[in-house]
Amino acid sequence: MDERTFIMVKPDGVQRRLVAEIISRFERRGYQLIGIKMLQASAQRIDTHYAELTEKPFYPGLKRYMLSGPVVAMAWKGKAAAATGRALVGATNPRQSAPGTIRGDYCIDVGRNVVHASDSVESAEREIKIWFQADELVGYADPLSDWIYEDA
Ligand code: UDP
Repeated sequence: MDERTFIMVKPDGVQRRLVAEIISRFERRGYQLIGIKMLQASAQRIDTHYAELTEKPFYPGLKRYMLSGPVVAMAWKGKAAAATGRALVGATNPRQSAPGTIRGDYCIDVGRNVVHASDSVESAEREIKIWFQADELVGYADPLSDWIYEDA
């Protein structure tokens, strides 16, 4: 129940007014928002976030895309947050994302796929550290947990 994931509305998601919709998908599923901020990313932060991809041929375009406007960075907490976050977001290529997922409902091209979700618990912890200071994350009791979890 303490698992965390990092979710980010990418610049196209912000421009297309999808911030509230993306937040809502995670809220309605039962996850708890523990950190959120809007910012214009720096080139260095994007390089760190996508460290594993900087040599890929698509990286220059990805970096331009991620720097093209503000993003909304979020940390969410709850059981299996990382894997379920990926499921809510859908496949990397939106044309392979199932309808009902965020990407499957709101986008078409891989280079405009509106949202990021950590691909594992380890990535989530690494990414949360890149985007948030410790004092920008909050811990608070969740009075709904008995209604969301059978073993709360
Ligand atoms: N990307 C792209 N072209 C590709 C593969 C990936 O533009 O051929 C972009 C896309 O925005 C993707 C991001 O690079 O979301 C990171 O790629 P990754 O494989 O980590 O996918 P994700 O974890 O975001 O689903």
